[in-house]
Amino acid sequence: MDILKRLQEHCRNIPEQPAIVSETEQLNYRQLEEYSNALASYLTASYGKSKEPIVVYGHKNVFMIVCFLACVKAGRGYCPIDVSVPAERAAAIINEARPSVVLMPENAKFMAGESETINLSQIQAICREGDAGPDADAWVKDGDTFYIIFTSGSSGTPKGVKISLGCLNHFLDWAVELGIPSKEKRGSTFLNQAPFSFDLSVMDLYTCLACGGTLWVMTKEVQGDYQKMFRLMEDSDVKVWVSTPSFADVCLADQKFAQRLLPSLRVFLFCGETLTNRTALQLQERFPKAVIVNTYGPTESTVALTEVKVDRELAVNENPLPVGRVKRGSAIEIWDEQGKAMPDGESGEIILMGDTVSTGYHQREELSRKSFFMCRRNDEVLRGYHTGDSGYLKNGMLYYLGRLDRQIKLHGYRIELDDIEQNLLRLDRVKSAVVTTNERDEKITGLTAHIVYDRKVEDGRQEARRMKEELKEFLPQYMIPKKIRFLDSIPMTANGKVDRKMLQGAVR
Ligand code: AMP
Repeated sequence: MDILKRLQEHCRNIPEQPAIVSETEQLNYRQLEEYSNALASYLTASYGKSKEPIVVYGHKNVFMIVCFLACVKAGRGYCPIDVSVPAERAAAIINEARPSVVLMPENAKFMAGESETINLSQIQAICREGDAGPDADAWVKDGDTFYIIFTSGSSGTPKGVKISLGCLNHFLDWAVELGIPSKEKRGSTFLNQAPFSFDLSVMDLYTCLACGGTLWVMTKEVQGDYQKMFRLMEDSDVKVWVSTPSFADVCLADQKFAQRLLPSLRVFLFCGETLTNRTALQLQERFPKAVIVNTYGPTESTVALTEVKVDRELAVNENPLPVGRVKRGSAIEIWDEQGKAMPDGESGEIILMGDTVSTGYHQREELSRKSFFMCRRNDEVLRGYHTGDSGYLKNGMLYYLGRLDRQIKLHGYRIELDDIEQNLLRLDRVKSAVVTTNERDEKITGLTAHIVYDRKVEDGRQEARRMKEELKEFLPQYMIPKKIRFLDSIPMTANGKVDRKMLQGAVR
């Protein structure tokens, strides 16, 4: 499928169908096409036909999507940064992305450094008065970068995953059929819960646009106010739900979250973290008309590449739940440390190959060489990626066991614990910092930082408060450890490694 051609068809066939709807605004398919063409022409005229990416800074304003499509049609990848990313981290992303310009389709304050910015009213003026010019997207090729999404990096600076138009199109060939056939999704409402800087949002945004549906975007303000969130949900007519299992858990805590609230809901699509049997069973009970689909994949392989329908039988009989079978055009192997493929049932590193694997990290050649590779399978040359995830295959079904390194998932967010530690060490009085996870019922519920100071700590509580305040400058809220412990020294194991087990045990 070609998503850009699909959008042209929708503009011709269903121009008045709402494409993006938020609490306060909406755009139909004609507006989405015309506005993005006009903005693309403006970008090309102003910044030339270069491949430099463009940063789009904002949250859920409907013009975010216009900006995304305009960048792509101007032949550049867009790099979304959500408003919740702290200024320092956003600056680090800008520094890595080196954009020609920063589009700001939200009235937000932002330090774009030396980059030029275009704000919401300018964007709206260009869209409404601009001239699309002929074939704004005629020269965009499959290999061109569609988006660059930055994820947590172990060195303390985020790394940008490049996804091409071809990768996205291959992903969509598969994603439109997830749960229920694409025909049944036509004209339906899709939930957008995740911020656009998180690749899970690609699953709802572009699947919805490919099907000619309506994307119903939920801002973080709405998500922070449950009463309002449920009230809006009731009016939303959502048919396809896309979120992390954690967000579904938050909703399930309220008894109102049931089929009565969302009578049209037919599909739950999950990705990004472990879907537990408990969550699946609760959803089945509360939403008897909906199917639950578990999918798996990292940002580096374009959102997801495996799927499994979790019916009652599976949810009762299999623990942990499988994460699915691989899509057409992709392959999965399990490798040992020497790169030897493991037989069925034996665990090792999950290796992904195929037509949705990223072309690499933006401006990080060495890291890309370590993580990505080319290989030959059945006379075909495929791109491969080392996930760092541990798992096994059984009759083609993939089971996820956890991480091989220090990357974790907290409430659906991908976090490198090393990234937090590196940022803690930026505070000059911190001599050593180790971050461990807090767990309940085998689920990560929070983070603890174990800190050694270069001086005596008089009041631990006050110091912890101050530290959290300072960390807000460098880290998004979800990466700031809830608990901070001050120690005289970090405990070591007999072979001189940080004794993480002991630190973890000390928190319970
Ligand atoms: P992200 O790049 O943010 O999508 O995070 C990718 C990582 O999330 C993967 O490498 C896995 O560790 C984890 N993950 C993704 N999908 C699942 C799933 N269905 N079950 C368990 N973990 C998952």
